[in-house]
Amino acid sequence: TKVWTFLRKNILLIFLVLALGIGIGLGAELRTLDPPMSTRSIMYLRFPGDILMNMLSFLIVPLIISSLVSGLASLDSTASGKMGLRAVIYYLTTTFAAVVLGIVLTVSIQPGRQGDSDESNNDTENENKVVNTADTFLDLIRQCFPANIMEMCFRKTVTEQVLRGEEPSTEDGSYTSPASMTTTTYTISSKNSSHKDKVYDPVLTKIDGPNVLGMVVFSILLGVILSKMEERGKPLIVVFETICEATMQLVKLAIWYSPIGIMCLIAANVVDMDDPAKTFQQLLYYFLTVMAGLFIHGVVTLPLIYFLFVRQNPFSYLYGVFEAIVTAIATASSSATMPVTMRCLVDNNGVDNRVVKFVIPVGATINMDGTALYEAVAVLFIGQMRGYEMDIGRIITISITATAAAIGAAGVPQAGLVTMVIVLSAVGFPTDDVALILAVDWLLDRFRTAVNVLGDAFGAGIVNHLSRRELKDIDNKHNMVFETE
Ligand code: ASP
Repeated sequence: TKVWTFLRKNILLIFLVLALGIGIGLGAELRTLDPPMSTRSIMYLRFPGDILMNMLSFLIVPLIISSLVSGLASLDSTASGKMGLRAVIYYLTTTFAAVVLGIVLTVSIQPGRQGDSDESNNDTENENKVVNTADTFLDLIRQCFPANIMEMCFRKTVTEQVLRGEEPSTEDGSYTSPASMTTTTYTISSKNSSHKDKVYDPVLTKIDGPNVLGMVVFSILLGVILSKMEERGKPLIVVFETICEATMQLVKLAIWYSPIGIMCLIAANVVDMDDPAKTFQQLLYYFLTVMAGLFIHGVVTLPLIYFLFVRQNPFSYLYGVFEAIVTAIATASSSATMPVTMRCLVDNNGVDNRVVKFVIPVGATINMDGTALYEAVAVLFIGQMRGYEMDIGRIITISITATAAAIGAAGVPQAGLVTMVIVLSAVGFPTDDVALILAVDWLLDRFRTAVNVLGDAFGAGIVNHLSRRELKDIDNKHNMVFETE
């Protein structure tokens, strides 16, 4: 019976582990088919995975808005102010710590100088398609103030021409700012990346994504205002609370479906990937450096910080969010993973609902430790490979802009690759150089997303612990009102 209770308790986890294993195995098996699988059959194989992606993406808009509004409305302004401050300090320090770790690793391992380095110094004459860093930052701020609530939820932006250094077109008449790559509603597909001698010509695939940053700002403001309106605010708060609760129920559905979706996503990806032996030859050291950094940050640094503050076992906390980690690896999107993260924290880790509702939507949007680490390593690696000079000034610039670029990256697949343009242009490297690392990016993306999600999860635990007194006070106040009624 003990075995039985264990199975019952961990059934989802078992399914997920099976999904991972079967996905990889099936993919590897199907790869060996002769003739190889057609694009069409790969599409069919992926189909259940696409459904999962849709289910999760569907939940993002209602969940972010309703959870932030109802979460903030249920706190008083001092509590939410303190909580927000703690969260922001946590986000910034951990992101910066990740960048520093990445820099230290890259400078000591020197992945760009390992192996054959015939890439170095050829066509350094590359014309520099400089992206104006200031414009990009302005664009980030612009995103925080969406002009239109509908557009905020269903935005489409054009990034393709921007990366190629052309003027963005506005076919549908909507405004697209010159640096809208920070919005990253698009991804660079790393297919046909026999990139070695090719000119960088990214194939950009469209992903329609909401303006999450705008949504976060809007919802926070609305929540704070409603909480100040006392009685008159109540009806609307109840509406958002109900939407939030109902959406979280829907998340359950998606979670129970996720093992099937994840299996298919992974299998299709394994079938579809370029020949690993060829791909990894040149980039092996780079790949290993990023992976080592992600591993250290996710399994040592973050748990240590958690332990220092909370004094509880960080690894059982990590175990509690396992589902979210697997979902992050399968979807490569922290936005899509957000619903799962929220459920895990509330159901498995006992984090207060109000903290989760507040900290996770914000964290999934701006807190990206994995992405920051990866951007720093990637840019330094490119510099080493090309033989550009790396003085301390450049390293400092990288550390600051990589942090900013990670904040600006949207939680969608390969967003970090696009915002890396900011870091590259800040140190004056040709932005075309991202081609050097394109081949392994789809894989690194999955692991950095996992670390992004892990950073948010630990953050919620820490903020929860530090805010316990404020939360208690609010509870007491409620109880008192209840009793006098
Ligand atoms: N895919 C990552 C995420 O969603 C962002 C990135 O490309 O680094 O968190």
